[in-house]
Amino acid sequence: MTSMNAQIKTACVIGDPIDHSLSPLLHNYWIKALGLQAHYDRLQINIDRFNKDVTNCFNDHNFMGMNITLPHKQAALALAPYASTEAKKAGAANLLVRRDGKLWAHNTDIEGFTGPLMKTRGSKGWEDSAIVIIGAGGAARAALIGARKLNPHKIILLNRTDEKAKMLADSFGEPVMAHPWADRQKVLRGTTLLVNASAAGMAGKPALDLRCEGLAPDALVYDLIYTPLETPLLAEARAAGYGTLNGLDMLIGQARPSFEALFGVPPPADDGVKAVLIKALEAHP
Ligand code: NAP
Repeated sequence: MTSMNAQIKTACVIGDPIDHSLSPLLHNYWIKALGLQAHYDRLQINIDRFNKDVTNCFNDHNFMGMNITLPHKQAALALAPYASTEAKKAGAANLLVRRDGKLWAHNTDIEGFTGPLMKTRGSKGWEDSAIVIIGAGGAARAALIGARKLNPHKIILLNRTDEKAKMLADSFGEPVMAHPWADRQKVLRGTTLLVNASAAGMAGKPALDLRCEGLAPDALVYDLIYTPLETPLLAEARAAGYGTLNGLDMLIGQARPSFEALFGVPPPADDGVKAVLIKALEAHP
């Protein structure tokens, strides 16, 4: 990490790899906008050195905490003696902070997922919704927890590897239910919210093998991917007249509570950072 003046509060994002992370750009934009004496860095940590390197970071008194990305989210939860209910439910943490000398694990991906949804469609009136979530990894788990808070009528989970979807759905119970991947097109009928929480459609990966057909007329298609900003799924949804959301809003949504927990003040309420992130993504897709 960059060597810092002793008065400057520091925080970082850790992962492996970490070069691609937009979190330093995002948090440093807010730090500058608020005129804080702070800096947010990136740190590559190998899983074999995870506990030692993370503990070393927290030995620095100016170190406020860290965001966690792949592949360390489960290790972060395991390391912290204290964890929020959300992090425990998710089985993963994307934020570690020290409070009164105690190391706490949090998960703000859930709020990051629901925030843009509520901003777009409101927080009420989801009772008649049929939600389909694709994937069975960490993002799908955060999306499931977030979607369940909306109290929808049903949540269908689909994953390329059926057993993983079944195990995850069974661990949640009603109203979450897994369906076979082979039936994916059929179960989309009447869906009001389609979420892609799989890696399919990311830059360098094959597109999701699914057509946006048969959704409810006012359906919203939410792809958690932000590289590219418009996946083939979102392009098809937009062309068909459905509402769309990409993963950039979720990235900003999880960063907002992280920033406040790290630096003790909320980030600016405006969306100015979004244009900065889009510019960076367009320059280095
Ligand atoms: P993960 O734990 O590695 O899970 C990947 C999931 O994608 C698995 O369910 C996998 O299915 C599925 N998958 C991979 N390739 C596929 C394909 N060609 N067709 C269908 N399914 C495929 O990853 P994750 O952490 O959950 O992340 C998933 C996505 O969410 C990533 O694209 C990531 O960028 C995005 N994400 C976004 C944010 C944000 O802030 N916007 C935050 C977290 C994650 P199998 O089980 O069959 O392998």
